[in-house]
Amino acid sequence: HHKNCILVEYVEDASNSQTIPKPVKTFQHAFHAFPEILKVINKQSFVEPSPVQCQAWPIIMSGHDLIAIAQTGSGKTLAYILPALIHLVRQPVERHLRIGPSVVILGPTRELVQQIEVETKKYVYDNIHVMSIYGGVDVNDQINTLDDVKPDIIIATPGRLNDLVSIMAIKLNHVSYLVLDEADRMLDMGFQNQIELALRHIRSDRQTILTSATWPETVKKLANYYTTNPLHITIGSFDL
Ligand code: ADP
Ligand code: MG
Repeated sequence: HHKNCILVEYVEDASNSQTIPKPVKTFQHAFHAFPEILKVINKQSFVEPSPVQCQAWPIIMSGHDLIAIAQTGSGKTLAYILPALIHLVRQPVERHLRIGPSVVILGPTRELVQQIEVETKKYVYDNIHVMSIYGGVDVNDQINTLDDVKPDIIIATPGRLNDLVSIMAIKLNHVSYLVLDEADRMLDMGFQNQIELALRHIRSDRQTILTSATWPETVKKLANYYTTNPLHITIGSFDL
């Protein structure tokens, strides 16, 4: 019968297996070098990091690409956002010159993009600028906001991001950290071509994190195409 326990599984090729970082057990363990992050975490009423966070943080922070398969509500946003902030504070020059975003997060819907923005803004520090971009609102307003905000982190639905890239309101050539969040839902919504279009503008030596609740062939193909030597974590229940 169905046993509702947590399965953490690494699926990686043998060449990677020597270098898999060990999971962390506590927030302190993961972020002792980043007191600004610990301070905000301590304000939430979190008891401990979720399984996907324990596994993902050390993997991402050591520079690996990551594929994280875990159900909705398992804490994937913080799993990729906190390492994104650390990635950014390590790039002070790009940031101070405001030459374009270093971090791009793609998600399937306006609602999800807005949720990620709210979550991200709780944790940002060191003058990191965040902006979300989605369809259904005036492009000119977004162009003006881009001018004001000069975001380091852009959280976007793929279609509107491409609209703004095509008129050069956004340049993606400095992006070095890319998240494909809810990849399965993005594909379900028909964003495959838009993802491809956006990624033509992003350096191939970037770090890429892909999350999904499910792991069908279509998502495997996408992951295969857009990640480099990724480590996989799968967290979920399984049948006995
Ligand atoms: P997912 O993207 O996997 O669906 P979210 O990142 O949206 O999940 O997280 C779901 C909820 O859990 C959010 O309200 C978030 O603030 C909360 N959360 C994240 N990490 C933890 C944690 N370690 N302990 C308790 N709650 C958490
Ligand atoms: Mg999520």
